[in-house]
Amino acid sequence: MPEPLLHSAGPRGLYVRTFGCQMNEYDSLRVQRLLANLGYVPVNDIGQADVIFLNTCSVRGKAEQKVHSFLGSLRRLKVTKPHLKIIAGGCVAQQLGEKLLDRFDHLDMVIGTRAVNSVGQMLQRVQESGGRLACVPDEESDGTEIDGRKIPPQAGVTALVTIMQGCNNFCSYCIVPYVRGPERSRRADEILEEIRRLDESGVREVLLLGQNVNSYGRGLGENITFADLLRRIGAETSIARIRFTTSHPKDLSDELMRCFAEVDSLCKHLHLPVQAGSDRVLARMNRGCTVAGYMEKIRRLRQICPEIALTSDVIVGFPGETEEDFKKTMQLLDEVRFDNLFSFRYSDRPNTMAATFADKVDPEAAARRLLELQSYQADITLGKNLAEVGSTRLVLVEGPSRASNGQMTGRTTQNRVVNFQVPLSSIGRIVGVKIAFAYSHSLKGDIIPT
Ligand code: SF4
Repeated sequence: MPEPLLHSAGPRGLYVRTFGCQMNEYDSLRVQRLLANLGYVPVNDIGQADVIFLNTCSVRGKAEQKVHSFLGSLRRLKVTKPHLKIIAGGCVAQQLGEKLLDRFDHLDMVIGTRAVNSVGQMLQRVQESGGRLACVPDEESDGTEIDGRKIPPQAGVTALVTIMQGCNNFCSYCIVPYVRGPERSRRADEILEEIRRLDESGVREVLLLGQNVNSYGRGLGENITFADLLRRIGAETSIARIRFTTSHPKDLSDELMRCFAEVDSLCKHLHLPVQAGSDRVLARMNRGCTVAGYMEKIRRLRQICPEIALTSDVIVGFPGETEEDFKKTMQLLDEVRFDNLFSFRYSDRPNTMAATFADKVDPEAAARRLLELQSYQADITLGKNLAEVGSTRLVLVEGPSRASNGQMTGRTTQNRVVNFQVPLSSIGRIVGVKIAFAYSHSLKGDIIPT
């Protein structure tokens, strides 16, 4: 018997849970917008949901385990609420497809990363047929799958804007090219239009997203580079701040580095994943760059923009990593002195080249190396934060701080979190803050009266 589309009068609740990266957050916003056309309104309480959309991440083994455990936990809810529809999207959905339906018999729908635009039609088909459905296209997309006009207005001071999807790099440990497909850039005019609309709705800062934004424009047929796009956003919109992530060192051009000095609204922060400090490991990771090449780019960046803050990613315990290789990574940390670092223990990802490497590192050794590296970096980060004490920084007021009662929070152009006392009416303003205290993950200061 087909189910009626509406099980009850009035709006239906959509509960969205997003795992993983900011690109997934952006896709979740797309799903919200598309399902709003069918009368679904977002709810924060999962008990109020008529549809649950789970946007999954499989970039690391631990993230994927969390997805499986959350999906498992929904079984009881489905028993008590049979009309509830549960949808899995994102990378795990793309990777497992129908196997995910086999594994979780309370799951109604699986939608791949390149089928997000069809979520509404698919949900209707599932509701009308009472069946279950998987849609996981593996064909290369034409790059038009993100329609800026269908992105919901993002409430708040900062907003996400996906400028490209997919990746062509095939780093040997990474699942992204398999689940997100090849690189596809969005048209520059469409991105600019989206940013202008965000600006008009009160957004002050945009975070441009892509797996490798540095190669933006390749294959687009518009003769535009990422540096050109940044210049156009700076010149043709009045958005106060631009950030972007993520960058690949091999594609970081001199032209792009110069944008940090030339585009006023571009924040002085670059996240540049290095992954390892040993050329032998970098070659096995298929990173396409060497330690010397990376260090030269860091030197050049600091020459062009001395105040730039640098953050990075490191994987420890990559197959075949020796104590000597690990020491080289520690040495790189010592030389660069990143402002912050995201570090992870290697885990095998399905279909990747590295998963086939036989010389896996002993898990205990990998865990010990990770601890050592994180503790070393924590000292560097704290030292960098302490050096901020006494300085005055321009901070974009984002909203009430979660950590400090009655305080507001914002970030400096270098992406440091600052907490301070300021009226609620200041949200969205850029204010001067004199830094008084430094902690491991944030700063605290006093507003400079204007
Ligand atoms: S550049 Fe490498 S690590 Fe980054 S998404 Fe592409 S394949 Fe993965």
